[in-house]
Amino acid sequence: MSEPEAGRAPGRARVERDVRRLVRDEIQALSAYHVQPAAGLIKLDAMENPYPWPAALREDWLARLREAPLHRYPDPTAAALQARLRADWALPPGVELLLGNGSDELIQLLVMALARRGARAVIPEPTFVMYRQLAQSVGLACEAVPLRADFSIDLPAMLTAMERHRPAVVFLAQPNNPTGQLLAPEALARLVDAAPGLVVVDEAYAPFADFTALPWLAERDNLIVLRTFSKLGLAGLRLGVLAAPAGWQAALEKIRLPYNVGVLTQLTMMHVLDHPDVLADQAAAIRAERARLQSALADLPGVEVWQSQANFLLFRVPDGATLVHRLLREAGILIKCLHGAHPLLADCLRVTVGTPAENASFLRGLRAALAAAPGSL
Ligand SMILES: *Cc1c(COP(=O)(O)O)cnc(C)c1O
Repeated sequence: MSEPEAGRAPGRARVERDVRRLVRDEIQALSAYHVQPAAGLIKLDAMENPYPWPAALREDWLARLREAPLHRYPDPTAAALQARLRADWALPPGVELLLGNGSDELIQLLVMALARRGARAVIPEPTFVMYRQLAQSVGLACEAVPLRADFSIDLPAMLTAMERHRPAVVFLAQPNNPTGQLLAPEALARLVDAAPGLVVVDEAYAPFADFTALPWLAERDNLIVLRTFSKLGLAGLRLGVLAAPAGWQAALEKIRLPYNVGVLTQLTMMHVLDHPDVLADQAAAIRAERARLQSALADLPGVEVWQSQANFLLFRVPDGATLVHRLLREAGILIKCLHGAHPLLADCLRVTVGTPAENASFLRGLRAALAAAPGSL
């Protein structure tokens, strides 16, 4: 019998036995998504927008919240919000939306719907970890195609994997997390056209990229586009959007929980969409800051940094990424260590683009950490 972990109540024998006996094997094999403690640290680990709202926007929002009918269930389909998004994104006719508690929930709905016996998902790797996690949790087999060493998608290998596994779904984060790279539109089109099933293009970072597949929904029947407001500045709110050719929404609607997007989320989103410039200006500031941060990283001796179309940068240190990560944390700066997450990510770290002041602190901390880490000498 194993020792209870620190901070956990000692296991009760019957509970432990029953968990092993009753919980599905594929769930016992998983580990829960780990979030690093961040209290008191400059938080550059989770692709959040570092800028708060202007005071006026906040005050108007609070006034609207006062009227929020919290004693009533929310509008189950968030019809007003859907109409607003359709208009803002100029969605072509024949496209339907489904809203979720973050896009994570929409990924979960997709894999739940597609996990027929023997069905498979194909993903490039490294990519967003929730595709594999959620697929496995519902028993949908997940086949990974490694990215190339420069983190570009291996198009021939993807085509071969689709031919071999005939996947029900291919997940492609565009741009990809944690690499920041975008697949060229021609290559993406080839993948969508060759896919025997669905291709889900996850555009979590679209506000920071020069591409969207949304207009493609007009003419492609096996394409689904995911959006989220998390990386744009509303990570705490939880709103994800799935856009799909008519027909898919009805199938997924059967497993969506009826009130998955709450009153406060719907109301707050309407308020934000009434002031589109606020988040758009913040995204533009983040993009400009990304360019500055990237060239500063590229100037550090021995550091390799990749082009990014997202609000984060992936970089590699000469050696000892785990140590560099720890030294940074001790200096009050939290980023993400990817060393060990995938063989291609050896000595890689990921930093979210923060405010100019946060980025300056990060660069100062990184220089000091590199000087202290053994491999940099
Ligand atoms: C962060 C992220 C998400 C999840 O976003 P939520 O809407 O906050 O659940 C989805 N896809 C990718 C690629 C991400 O990086």
